[in-house]
Amino acid sequence: MNKRRIWVAGHKGMVGSAVVRHLEMRGDTVLKVDRSVVDLRNQIAVEVWLKQNRPDAIIFAAAKVGGIFANDTFPADFIYDNLAIQTNVIHSAHTAEVDRLLFLGSSCIYPKFASQPIKEEALLTGPLEPTNEWYAIAKIAGIKLCQAYRKQYGRSYIAVMPCNLYGPNDNFDLTTSHVLPALIRKFHEAKVEGRDEVVVWGTGTPLREFLHVDDLAKGVVFCLDNYNEYEHINCGAGAEISIRGLAETVAHTIGFSGRLVFDSSKPDGTPRKLMDSSRILKLGWKPEISLEDGITSSYRWFLENGIGNA
Ligand code: GDP
Repeated sequence: MNKRRIWVAGHKGMVGSAVVRHLEMRGDTVLKVDRSVVDLRNQIAVEVWLKQNRPDAIIFAAAKVGGIFANDTFPADFIYDNLAIQTNVIHSAHTAEVDRLLFLGSSCIYPKFASQPIKEEALLTGPLEPTNEWYAIAKIAGIKLCQAYRKQYGRSYIAVMPCNLYGPNDNFDLTTSHVLPALIRKFHEAKVEGRDEVVVWGTGTPLREFLHVDDLAKGVVFCLDNYNEYEHINCGAGAEISIRGLAETVAHTIGFSGRLVFDSSKPDGTPRKLMDSSRILKLGWKPEISLEDGITSSYRWFLENGIGNA
């Protein structure tokens, strides 16, 4: 096994921390830098730090992320923060002569009505889902930055697009989280407080694809080792579930037996975003954690970390 020095940008987040666990298990040296030392929105700070530390590769897992409500409410933060941090890191990687970089995006880069399952080629073939277009535009720009530095300077920069993710270190704050951690918290609190009703946003009909972050971390390291192409690559679980189905599964795992109330005044977002991950599957990666097992272990993590009303 070759030992490399890899900078994981965003090492404290759900994705970054999973990637760090996986790299360290493999024996790679992981470089980390806290936001208080280098604010990735500060171009000079990023450039100076990268020139001083010169990693062999960068995994870009730093992002301003959030669920449907946060994206829709703070569009300026989502577009500015993401454009700034990725521009600074990708450009400074080039000027510091770091030849290998993996950029992480999201399945929301694809058109709202892309044909399903969504192939990589669907990028920029139609309008985006309005609730998260700010984040999506930034992520599309990130893919294009990787392609531009590859095209002009021959850099081995690649981009990986995950589907909806969940797992340890998820965000359980109900105003900013994604649906899966939000449901874990809502059902847990309803059970503890003896309530017989839980409100689920939207109609319950949208379909989503959920991948455990430990499976993604393996996919990311797999791509770092095995993928070096101009085009971005999808990394998804390959199965989809309705929000109603997800809510029923989470309720069952937590042991909540009351009613689900669907609040259709809240947005549904995109109706469906199942990715076609056949490219990465053919290369040799595959997801290993079932949604049921993943929800069970995420609920355990939630309890062990004392989140929500105990
Ligand atoms: P999206 O995949 O970008 O739309 O992000 P989310 O994970 O935030 O939302 C996915 C779907 O779950 C949307 O249709 C939401 O309306 C729905 N949903 C249902 N209940 C909740 C909730 O409590 N929080 C969030 N974030 N979404 C919810």
